[in-house]
Amino acid sequence: MVRLGIVDRVAGLLAIVLGASLFGAAGCAPHAGVATAARERFDPHASSPAQRARLDALRAALAPVVASRKDPEALLLLDHDALYAPLDAEQRALLDEIRHQPGADPSVSIPEDVVWTRLEGQVVHGPTGDQPIPLQLVTEPVGRALRELDRAMRRDLGRGLLVGSAYRSPAYQLQLIVDLLPRFGYSLEQTIVHVSLPGASDHNRVDRLGVDFVSESGIDLAWADAAAFRALPEYAWLVEHAKSFGFEADPAKPGELPTSPWHWRYADER
Ligand SMILES: [Zn+2]
Repeated sequence: MVRLGIVDRVAGLLAIVLGASLFGAAGCAPHAGVATAARERFDPHASSPAQRARLDALRAALAPVVASRKDPEALLLLDHDALYAPLDAEQRALLDEIRHQPGADPSVSIPEDVVWTRLEGQVVHGPTGDQPIPLQLVTEPVGRALRELDRAMRRDLGRGLLVGSAYRSPAYQLQLIVDLLPRFGYSLEQTIVHVSLPGASDHNRVDRLGVDFVSESGIDLAWADAAAFRALPEYAWLVEHAKSFGFEADPAKPGELPTSPWHWRYADER
């Protein structure tokens, strides 16, 4: 699971708040037809039992799309045609609602002329044993920068960092959001705090590709314990040196600590 830039996240939530006032206005309309349409619209803030049932049916319809992709690269590069293929008209409309929420960027697509560097064979050596990290894709410049960064960190600290998540297509991002909805009470608003809307995530972009670092011991593979990651010597090293390899952190809110310290984006301005 992946974090988005704080700025993106705030912008997304702001847009949803604006969307809420629109929904509210529609709900107050005196015409029964308009009110019915408003009731049936997807509500990003909370889910009625009927909306939950529709989302569960959508998740069930999408599950075989993911399961059929045995090659992890085919999943990371999932396109919208494949994602929408098994859906009926109502499910397509529901998925479209999520895909086009304010704050999403439906114009972002999979770039055609990218040569991907495959990060394979990464293994976390955690307290409960070894855990392989699935294949990750980065662009060639990011792959080179990661190798240089890793070499320098090993020289300084005697250990490097792994990449727990990197590029994923906007369609795969959309599927992830739908899949994670139950974990956040079926509220899209809550879910996109953790996984940003399609096209709004650095992980969907090759011009500012996001990578989520993980320590060799697995901190924090679950993207849940920001304090543990911030306490790593590897994190202090990133803060001091990552910029010289082209990586920049999410800007923290004034007076606050970074909430996604593992998330860095490649914005080479060296
Ligand atoms: Zn991230």
